[in-house]
Amino acid sequence: MRAVFDAAVPYLDSLADRPVYAGSARVKELLSDLPSAGEGAAAVVERLLSVGTAAATHSAGPRFFHFVTGGVTPAALAADWTVSLLDQNAFSRAASEFAHAVETVALDWLRELFGLPASFGGALVGSATFANFTSLGAATHWWASRHGVDVAADGLAGLPRMPVFSGGYVHASARKALQMLGHGRDSVSVLGAGRVDLSSLDRALADSGPAVVVANAGEVNTGDFDPLAGIAEVVSRHDAWLHVDGAFGLFAALSPRTAGLVAGLERADSIACDGHKWLNVPYESGFAFLREPARLGAAFGMPGAPYLPGADSPRAGYGLLGPESSRRARCVPIWATLAAYGRSGYRAMVERHLDLAQELAGLVDAAPDLERLAEVPLCVVCFRVRPPGVPKAELDDLNRRVGEALLEDGRVFAGTTVWEGKVALRPAIVNWRTTSRDIELFVSVVRELAASVR
Ligand SMILES: *Cc1c(COP(=O)(O)O)cnc(C)c1O
Repeated sequence: MRAVFDAAVPYLDSLADRPVYAGSARVKELLSDLPSAGEGAAAVVERLLSVGTAAATHSAGPRFFHFVTGGVTPAALAADWTVSLLDQNAFSRAASEFAHAVETVALDWLRELFGLPASFGGALVGSATFANFTSLGAATHWWASRHGVDVAADGLAGLPRMPVFSGGYVHASARKALQMLGHGRDSVSVLGAGRVDLSSLDRALADSGPAVVVANAGEVNTGDFDPLAGIAEVVSRHDAWLHVDGAFGLFAALSPRTAGLVAGLERADSIACDGHKWLNVPYESGFAFLREPARLGAAFGMPGAPYLPGADSPRAGYGLLGPESSRRARCVPIWATLAAYGRSGYRAMVERHLDLAQELAGLVDAAPDLERLAEVPLCVVCFRVRPPGVPKAELDDLNRRVGEALLEDGRVFAGTTVWEGKVALRPAIVNWRTTSRDIELFVSVVRELAASVR
């Protein structure tokens, strides 16, 4: 136990300067046949720490700009260790009154952080994929009930296909959630190349019967938003459920500078968000909020078993309000980080990231060999390498090589995407440790590698 603490301090201190990635060859030291006689905990933990702190991808550090990847605040890290120490099962109050109470306050605090009305209630889940799954599971239950079917009891058989509408920003994980729920990932009708087209949506909903609309608050390539208030207005004219995927974009609500991007959020029926992105708590952490939280119990309550508390029992709990039964007390790091830094600490962090994103956009705009491809409304900067004299037809290839070179080099991390037909980089800034120095290093490494792979 002491060994972990002793290794943690220098490791955490090293994150500011060490490369994001320096190879994982040493992981081989952990890959053997199952030992018949174990070596004992002390030797194993020592080996694990030695290999892990070397071979891991140091994404908790300040220069991992790939995907949308948060770090871990000190309070959240200490709390996460405490979760393992206490090893609670956050299934029910019977299993842990402690976890139940902390989860209740963590959900209340998150709801307040995002400015949602008190009627909203939620469930903590493992990720935004699971938050989309949970939300769309509740949506499915609502939709089937419009057809007179209790889908929790009877399933989808005999029902028509559930109409789902979204815009071009729909995230792969929303499709995956629909795939897992039995609707199929291709059940989404995409209305508009980027933001959802409101008049197409209005027409589609007029013809579809009861339907589900997936709006996107924070698109992964540029951080752009669907017009939530406009979508809510259209949805209110029809028989439809409005789901908002705000995996990281929900944090726009924390600053008056960006709160307008999520105006209308309170009119959603369900909302999905991640904890392990911008909240900077450890994996795995996500949450779903519903305007009518009782719908979670209807969709996810389990059939009774004589040894389990039923859904109406005072000893029931969050395990009956989401896809998991036995669950980690992932509420504890959420509680700890919000208790430690408060609303104003989180607002300050988000605003620091907004500033850093503008700073990065400015560096891109000033560089003769870089080209920004989109506005920067939030924390993602979409751009590509475009050295003077390189023919247009070669730019995609060049940018793919730069993306590969970045991951090989390891000083900073970012991945490529395709934006409006162009291969591009899309660094996302959501780690509390990131500073201007990291942004400057990122730009200089990209330019250096771009010159070297040409
Ligand atoms: C990251 C992300 C997801 C999926 O989140 P996971 O935590 O990886 O499951 C869903 N939607 C959006 C918009 C995202 O950015």
